[in-house]
Amino acid sequence: MAYSLMTMFNAFTWTFLAALLAATSTRLWLSQRQIRHVRAHRGAVPPTFADAIPLAAHQKAADYTVAKTKFGMIDNVFGAVILVVLTLGGLIQWLAEQWARVLAPESIWHGAAVIASVFALQAALSLPFALYRIFGIEERYGFNRMTLKLFVIDVLKGIVVAVVLGVPLLVVVLWLMNAAGSLWWLYVWAVLVVYSLFMQLVVPMFIMPWFNKFSPLQDQTLVERVERLLARCGFRSRGLYVMDGSKRSSHGNAFFAGVGASKRIVFFDTLIQRLDPPEVEAVLAHELGHYKLNHIKKTLAIHFGIMLVSLFVLGLLVGERWFYEGLGVSSITLSVGLLLFILVAPVFSFFLHPLETLLSRKHEFEADAYATSHSRAADLVQALVKLYQDNASTLTPDPVHSAFYDSHPPAAVRIARLKTA
Ligand SMILES: [Zn+2]
Repeated sequence: MAYSLMTMFNAFTWTFLAALLAATSTRLWLSQRQIRHVRAHRGAVPPTFADAIPLAAHQKAADYTVAKTKFGMIDNVFGAVILVVLTLGGLIQWLAEQWARVLAPESIWHGAAVIASVFALQAALSLPFALYRIFGIEERYGFNRMTLKLFVIDVLKGIVVAVVLGVPLLVVVLWLMNAAGSLWWLYVWAVLVVYSLFMQLVVPMFIMPWFNKFSPLQDQTLVERVERLLARCGFRSRGLYVMDGSKRSSHGNAFFAGVGASKRIVFFDTLIQRLDPPEVEAVLAHELGHYKLNHIKKTLAIHFGIMLVSLFVLGLLVGERWFYEGLGVSSITLSVGLLLFILVAPVFSFFLHPLETLLSRKHEFEADAYATSHSRAADLVQALVKLYQDNASTLTPDPVHSAFYDSHPPAAVRIARLKTA
């Protein structure tokens, strides 16, 4: 087996390995930078926050960030090893052979079984990491509210959701790849677009209520305040709700759920407990900014564009023997081609990540500007300081690490801009 694998390897094998090595070492390098930078600034609270955040909280944030980053490095290396074992190590080939004993090798069901078993394996391997993150790191820093029982229930529900929502989609995609002719990638794209839009409706309506409890917002002072803000912004909501995020974590956030012009507004209970009504209003004004400035639609449109290009590329690759053999697979079927593409494409697209975060940070600044014009900037600053402190987010990220990964601008930059508003 090892010998036959070695003879298949080609130029693409080395391209893939070089890209994987480059991506993984870049990740580790960025993590190293982040750890060094955060540690170097652990000794003093940055001047912007000096009178709002105590030194002890700043140091807790530094230690928490370092702990998470170190653990992320182990996760990155492990992920790269698993990817090599699956591909060049021959695990996908072996799985394809095992399933071929019970299912016709070219059939959709064989393809679905191979893909589902790889995803199931990846999910199973990620469980110990999730356990350590929640019951190790989050617990140590006092953020965890999850019990082991709830964790198990969440995993089981997650499996049900993945099977109910994922398997039918996979079968439809594989069927189109097999039956829709040379333009299958275009039809698959159309299905994925419709599916994503459908999910925007289904997830908040049917999936999230299965994991969390949503109750109407009771606090009348806050209700009135929020309704005045909504009227000022010309936003019609389909109700104000509170979600019991506190049963899993003490981290706080606010978000929207729903589709179209009439949306439900959902607050984390942790947010309501921690922030004063004017601060909640300012945070909501920021979220309304994202909606009013079409950030959600724009991001979705960009993702659909990337999806179309990716599927076009996949359409070119699935017929090429070198693509399969270069990745350690001799069972050349469309479904295995799809699987290899899903696994390997992120290695190559990793270096485009800063572009995505750049756009996201631009949107954050725009939403802040919107919030400033519809509520008070000082309240948003107050709310952000509280959230940074409660979430132990570092106030001193490494600039390069931040440019690569952070969807939000660094705290100091963001608050400095709000203060000039
Ligand atoms: Zn935002």
